[in-house]
Amino acid sequence: MFSNLNLAQKGLILVVIPLLFQLGFIYVLNGQLDQAERERQQESIYKEKKQHLAKISRIVLADAGGLAIYGMRKGGDGSGPDVRYKHVSDAVPAEFEALERLSQNDPQELKDIQSVRELATKIVKDFRRIRNDISSDNYLVAVKQFNQLRPQIAVLENQLQVVNDLQDQLENAGAENWSARREEVKRVLVLATLVNILIATLLSFAFYRGTTRRLAIVVENSERLARGQELLPALTGTDEIAQLDSVFNQMAKILNEAARKERAVVENAVDVIFSIDERSTLTNISPASLQVFGYDSEDLRGRNVRFLLPKDEADETVQKLTATQRGDAQFESHITKSGGTQIDVLWSVHWSSEERQYFCIAHDITERKRAENLLRLAEARIRLIVESMPIGLIIIDDNGRIELNNPSVERMFEKTMNDLVGGSIGMLFGKPETVTDAEFTADLIQKTKSHAYELEAVSTYKKKIPVEVSMNEFETLEGKRHLVLVIDVTERHEVERLKQEFISMVSHELRSPLNSVLGFLEMLPEGIYGDLNDTGQEKVTVAERNVNRLIRLINDLLEIDRTEAGRLSMEIEDIPIKPLIDRSVDAVKALADKENITITVSDSDTIVTADGDRIVQVIVNLLSNAIKYSPKGGKIEVTTSTQEDWLEVRVKDEGRGIPAQYKALIFEKFQQVDSSDWRQKGGTGLGLAISKAIIDQLNGSIGVDSEEGKGSTFWFRLPLKKVASSQFTAS
Ligand code: ADP
Repeated sequence: MFSNLNLAQKGLILVVIPLLFQLGFIYVLNGQLDQAERERQQESIYKEKKQHLAKISRIVLADAGGLAIYGMRKGGDGSGPDVRYKHVSDAVPAEFEALERLSQNDPQELKDIQSVRELATKIVKDFRRIRNDISSDNYLVAVKQFNQLRPQIAVLENQLQVVNDLQDQLENAGAENWSARREEVKRVLVLATLVNILIATLLSFAFYRGTTRRLAIVVENSERLARGQELLPALTGTDEIAQLDSVFNQMAKILNEAARKERAVVENAVDVIFSIDERSTLTNISPASLQVFGYDSEDLRGRNVRFLLPKDEADETVQKLTATQRGDAQFESHITKSGGTQIDVLWSVHWSSEERQYFCIAHDITERKRAENLLRLAEARIRLIVESMPIGLIIIDDNGRIELNNPSVERMFEKTMNDLVGGSIGMLFGKPETVTDAEFTADLIQKTKSHAYELEAVSTYKKKIPVEVSMNEFETLEGKRHLVLVIDVTERHEVERLKQEFISMVSHELRSPLNSVLGFLEMLPEGIYGDLNDTGQEKVTVAERNVNRLIRLINDLLEIDRTEAGRLSMEIEDIPIKPLIDRSVDAVKALADKENITITVSDSDTIVTADGDRIVQVIVNLLSNAIKYSPKGGKIEVTTSTQEDWLEVRVKDEGRGIPAQYKALIFEKFQQVDSSDWRQKGGTGLGLAISKAIIDQLNGSIGVDSEEGKGSTFWFRLPLKKVASSQFTAS
């Protein structure tokens, strides 16, 4: 129970119980003293009463004696000298009043005193009468009365004596009481002292059991905790000491758990955990040493750490180790494994000045070092490539701030790296001042999204450089970045220009002589130089066909040159599609008839906004291809349809179809599905490229749907002027 009280409560008990007892003791003692005081007062009352009684007796006797003397002096016949008599018994009532006042607490005594007073009053009255008789010389009467009064005086004396004796008795009884009281006080004092000693002993014992002994257990537990020993059983109770002990027990549990975990960590750690004393001796080493150093931990314990270090590095490593006494440190060294191979190790060292030991963790970083070396080499290689690349490489953030560039950029823009890094990409491409860097960058990202974008860059010395820019987004730890590739296309433009010049020069130079050769060949069968035999006729026909093809090729080349130079003339007008299709069919009719091919055309009253001749050129090209690649007697359908706000024209054949991988390619220059197409079908590989250029310029699109071996459907779409079409097939 005592152990459940807290220390403050225990202290209170220790103070309050003796205090309460002392108070009780004082109370009892005080009662005794009060009683003694009362008795002492009573005693003085008795004395006073006795004084009053004696005084009354004296007065009465004095008065009686005085009367006798007075009578005798006066003489029996009044012949004696005239003497004066002082009547003293007048003081008697006052004495009785005092007596009555002192006895008012004792009714019996008061009654007795009152009866004595009655007698005394009567006697005093008689004294007065006797004196009067004597004064008036009635001496005999006075003597007679006096004699009669004597027994009464004796009675009074007797009564007074009785009362006096009573007071004596009471006084004696009081004295006895007083000595009994003193004895009692002595007993109380002795008893109180004994009880006090007992209480003090009991409380001390309880305090010892409840506090001192418990505190000793806690102190013992704290020492055990410090020594890492098992603690004494936990204290019961809920006081502070029990709580403190419970905290120690919990701490012990936690420390045990931590120690267990620490042991588990050390034993299972991949890194080698070990301690070294001041003389460089390995004092403890974790089991990982077998895996990492190739030595069993037991074999290493007690050895000098130099045993593990390469000879030429041992001094330096031990010095590094000693230097860690000035604070925790990390350093790298080599370790010689049991087989003699060396590994790279990262040491993390903590010097304990209390235990005078180094606590170390050795982490095998051989692989990391190797990877770092490889990375360094790879980095150097990439750096070399990037730095020697003729293409400009710039890394920018979303706001266009340049973070990195290669030397090509510096050469291209006649700037130093200092000018570039931290600057804005906009400064390289003449960004207008009204546009912010972020806006300019966003615009550039947008423009380079699907293909490389050509624009003009400006060098430090205001030189304008045509460049092709492409951008790639990538993530870094700091966020999104963009790799900007800048290719100076000045030379490419020059080559292009020369090529165009060459093509047009060659085309013009070839077309005129070829036309005259054709004219000459056409005239030959008419016999202007004599009749030709059959073989001659045949050879001329072949020559005529080849020259025709050459002329077509030159025409196509010139056409494509014009499309690429953007010099394709267009006369845009609102025009119905149907007549254009009919014109195209008419143009290839002879060719189709020759191959016995039927061409059907759907009706349509759709009007397009386009250059009619160019549309005919496209449809003729699609129809010629369809005829070229259709089997003899095949069927070609030309249909139109409108959807939303565009018109679609479709040319369907029953030819060999287009392999999937060529569907986009054949719309590029000189691209043919089969290399023999040039020879066998007389194609140039330019027709579809020209058609695409025309359709593109009219804001339309062109393509092909085909499955190999199942014919092809070439189509183009044009923006609509007016939609009003019916679709059917007519032969
Ligand atoms: P070409 O003068 O060679 O016909 P084009 O640009 O018109 O040049 O066509 C390119 C190539 O596309 C042709 O060489 C041929 O291989 C293929 N091609 C075009 N139209 C068809 C078609 N209707 N059927 C099969 N292949 C075709």
